[in-house]
Amino acid sequence: MTDITLKIREIATRLLQNGQVDIFMGWEKGQEEYQARPFFARRVEDVDKLIFNEYSIHNLSNDLLKYRDGQEKIGIVVKGCDSRGIVRLLQDGQIKRERLYIVGVACPGMKDPLQAVKDNSGFFPTAADSGLAKKCGDCIEPNPIIYDELIGEKQTPRVGEERFKLVKEIENMSVDQRYQFFEDIFSRCIRCYACRQVCVACNCRTCIFDEMKPQWVGRETSISDNFMYHLVRASHMAGRCIECGECERVCPVNIPLMLINQKLIKDVNKFFGPYEAGMVYIEGAKPPLSSYQENDPDNFL
Ligand code: SF4
Ligand code: SF4
Ligand code: SF4
Repeated sequence: MTDITLKIREIATRLLQNGQVDIFMGWEKGQEEYQARPFFARRVEDVDKLIFNEYSIHNLSNDLLKYRDGQEKIGIVVKGCDSRGIVRLLQDGQIKRERLYIVGVACPGMKDPLQAVKDNSGFFPTAADSGLAKKCGDCIEPNPIIYDELIGEKQTPRVGEERFKLVKEIENMSVDQRYQFFEDIFSRCIRCYACRQVCVACNCRTCIFDEMKPQWVGRETSISDNFMYHLVRASHMAGRCIECGECERVCPVNIPLMLINQKLIKDVNKFFGPYEAGMVYIEGAKPPLSSYQENDPDNFL
């Protein structure tokens, strides 16, 4: 991936030098070789810190939210999932297209840095195969959807017919079994909100979970408050989740959040689809649950 790094540096230098962007977002090397963290270059002298390697997994599109109220022109490197995040932000009116210069990288798939930390900690047996991160094994679009410049050879989607396999297994459970399943996983949640913070689709300025008057969800990690948190967040993701897998990747207690997101994707596809969030950018187009037509079926009301 050295070629990609060099190309990114070349583009960043050009854009910063000619004043086309004020900030260029990419990744820099972390403390360990298996860590890459977001890095924002503001001067040509910073550009040599930019890297692209198999641990550049963090979805950078979420970082654009820090600049949504500014005027800066921003260069940003995107993989397939990051680019779908940008479509999400454009559709949600969070940032203007003309402020962005998007450098797409056809993504060869990333490794999981947390797995690498475990493998290198000496506390766990090293995983036999520390291949692609889970979210990359499930990736339906590794190629950037939206870009001004593209780097790398077109990649093949990695998930096949098995995409909703686990969702179907859960759908086939009895109601009691399903309740038990979700009670078990949600009881582990410590409500750290890492899944919300990392999510590009969670971009409301005031989040219902932070409100105190009224307080919609209690601060306790009781099972009812945890259910409330996950059900509300899930319903806000319907038709909007771009399947980047970041929420599940950062969860410290390994809650399989993508199961919930995939159930919503499957249902939105069935009832409103075919529809994949963030896969196409058409200026002014709204996701299915943000648009209304008079002939919409509404017999659920
Ligand atoms: S989810 Fe797809 S685009 Fe995103 S890092 Fe993994 S392989 Fe690349
Ligand atoms: S990241 Fe995991 S533990 Fe934290 S709030 Fe989300 S689901 Fe709960
Ligand atoms: S809910 Fe998870 S998978 Fe969906 S957009 Fe947010 S972080 Fe990505």
